[in-house]
Amino acid sequence: MNRKHINRRDFLKTIGVGSVITTAAIYGCNTKESNGDVPIGKMTYRTNRNSGDKVSILGYGCMRLPTKPKIHEDDDDVIDQDMVNKLTDYAITHGVNYFDTSPRYCQGKSEEAVGIALKKHPRNKFLVATKLSNFIDDDEAPATREASMEMYHDSFKKLQVDHLDYYLLHAIGRSIEDYQKRFINNGMLDFLIEERKGGRIRNLGFSFHGNPQVFDYALSMHNKVHWDFVQIQLNYFDWEHASKDDVNANYLYGQLKKYNIQSVIMEPLRGGRLAKIEFHLFEKLKQMRPDDSAAAWAFRYAGSYPDVLTVLSGMTYMENLQENIKTYSPLHPVTDKEKSALNDIVDGISKFPYISCTGCKYCMPCPYGLDIPGIFAQYNKCLDEGNYPTNIQDKEYRKARRAFLLGLDRAVPRQRQPQNCVNCGACLPKCPQHIEIPTEMEKIDQFTNKLKLQSTEL
Ligand code: SF4
Ligand code: SF4
Repeated sequence: MNRKHINRRDFLKTIGVGSVITTAAIYGCNTKESNGDVPIGKMTYRTNRNSGDKVSILGYGCMRLPTKPKIHEDDDDVIDQDMVNKLTDYAITHGVNYFDTSPRYCQGKSEEAVGIALKKHPRNKFLVATKLSNFIDDDEAPATREASMEMYHDSFKKLQVDHLDYYLLHAIGRSIEDYQKRFINNGMLDFLIEERKGGRIRNLGFSFHGNPQVFDYALSMHNKVHWDFVQIQLNYFDWEHASKDDVNANYLYGQLKKYNIQSVIMEPLRGGRLAKIEFHLFEKLKQMRPDDSAAAWAFRYAGSYPDVLTVLSGMTYMENLQENIKTYSPLHPVTDKEKSALNDIVDGISKFPYISCTGCKYCMPCPYGLDIPGIFAQYNKCLDEGNYPTNIQDKEYRKARRAFLLGLDRAVPRQRQPQNCVNCGACLPKCPQHIEIPTEMEKIDQFTNKLKLQSTEL
């Protein structure tokens, strides 16, 4: 809560215009369409208290649209428009009506692709949201009045609409000064309020990442601006346990409630982490709802708060779209008992920190021969399988200890294991997940040594 600033690289990454995390990385790589009935006409809707819009609780996030296979590794992404059209048609047929994009998503190609896909549908069948994605120190989208105006007018052209249903000041939260430069000093916020009066914007809001002082500052302007909605990060982990770079969702949601402002939810899966819950942690949820995936639990949680208008999900693959439609057709809000089971998962995740390595191998080769992704994969596998022994009194301790040590030796040769890391730092700038690789190596090494020493006590 005390964080004041975040650097530009991290900030752009957070809001999805920096490095890209694929949907495959979030959901797993299975791109097959799922079988089974996907309900039509059962979607849950929330009513916008200002405009009366009936908004589908599942919102389509258009930050990661499907792309065509690349011929050369460094080719630019080319959007697979046929697939975007197919997914959009399917979503609308199954009741999804909220589509969220930005001039900066998909290397600037998202708005146009979304506009093409929506064009053939009657205008009253969809609600389109886009953003003023101007950024102070970003050459591609500076925060001058001229560039901001151009971005605003371009959105209409690219989306092929004469009004925007939801318009957001994109990603406020770096600092109050940044907010003032982007929206106040250049007169853009006053202009957008006038545009709303003229009906070209139907709902005006902002999306938030970062410093809570900026959040409170923007809300303090509510009497003048009358925010129609605010987009926040909310999931069962961040409700009370947001990392130091984020703000607890219970604070954000609570503040909005005080102002009677409804929210749009992003990051219901916490960057994909909540779609992959370790087996031993997930068992209890499996007993309660055997057919539900970890992602379905996270989506149900995010949608259960009554002031939530819609929960955004980036659905690059048909099977993700189908699963989410099933989850929300209709939404069965989580019960208190289920919330308590989810809290146990939060405790478990916090206790056994999973390393968010995607196995991309960008950090390789390590000059000292470490198999960095192999070590992390084996470590995460032990967490998944419950083989992370911490309490010597635990009756499963001996078995888990053996599985951890033998598993590491079998998966990674000794000369490539963590004890050989010299903390040279060569791998650090190469990791797109910003994993503190040498620190993690030291932790795993210490843990392994502790287990080895404890052998004599058993
Ligand atoms: S810090 Fe460790 S893991 Fe990273 S490159 Fe150097 S020796 Fe290898
Ligand atoms: S670069 Fe990072 S995410 Fe990729 S394999 Fe290495 S540690 Fe894992």
